[in-house]
Amino acid sequence: MERKQFDIILINTLEEMGLRYNTALLDGLWLYMNFLQEENRKYNLTAIEGEEEIITKHFLDSLVFFTKYEPQPGSRILDMGTGAGFPGLVMKLYQPELGVLLVDSLQKRINFLNLLIERLGLKLVEALHGRAEDLGQQEEYREKFDYVVSRAVAPLNILSEYTLPFLRTGGKAVYFKGPDYQEELQEGEKAIEILGGRLKVIHKVKIPGLEVGRYLLEIEKVEETPARYPRKAGIPKKRPL
Ligand code: SAM
Repeated sequence: MERKQFDIILINTLEEMGLRYNTALLDGLWLYMNFLQEENRKYNLTAIEGEEEIITKHFLDSLVFFTKYEPQPGSRILDMGTGAGFPGLVMKLYQPELGVLLVDSLQKRINFLNLLIERLGLKLVEALHGRAEDLGQQEEYREKFDYVVSRAVAPLNILSEYTLPFLRTGGKAVYFKGPDYQEELQEGEKAIEILGGRLKVIHKVKIPGLEVGRYLLEIEKVEETPARYPRKAGIPKKRPL
């Protein structure tokens, strides 16, 4: 794909979504797409490979967050199970004044992100190798974030244990979910409550060019998470709350 075509697609869709853009964002996403494709040929980073798919399913799907939320500059955001940086690193490109922590349990994805962050010349963003269950018990990360975002990591009853311990009271978890979220909610509501969260709102959002429904589930942190959560690595998945 030529750079010009890339810009046209992004500009048109961002306008349709009511989102702003500037040269820095387009330059950043262009570099991101090319580096992702280059590295993806060497090892598996993402199953989504084509340019138009990367734009729609990774970039625009990540940016849809900003159609509903406007974090204050300086807000601390954690992306749990970020993979190749979605949605957290794309959000950082859109709003560079956010403090973003990208976490994944797969070292090669973190290596990729560190190289990419360096190439993009971004500050106040860190890619950290670790498991949610371990980091959530560390003082440095626990109850510290204004937002936690997560896409395609686990069903709600497990995901809430992976993420809610990181939020300060009053903070928000925003989960990127497909139409199956309703079934997940039935199982997940109890877990959310145990962990100090409360389901606040479900936004149905539209990404131009994506047929499948996208939902942003917002959970508000209303109380501190009890000290015993998250449980040891592997337990949340084996014995969901
Ligand atoms: N969020 C990215 C996206 O939407 O493209 C990646 C989704 S990928 C299907 C799930 C990611 O979650 C993987 O990269 C995996 O390593 C990570 N993951 C799964 N369980 C985790 C855990 N307990 N702690 C940290 N990362 C985890």
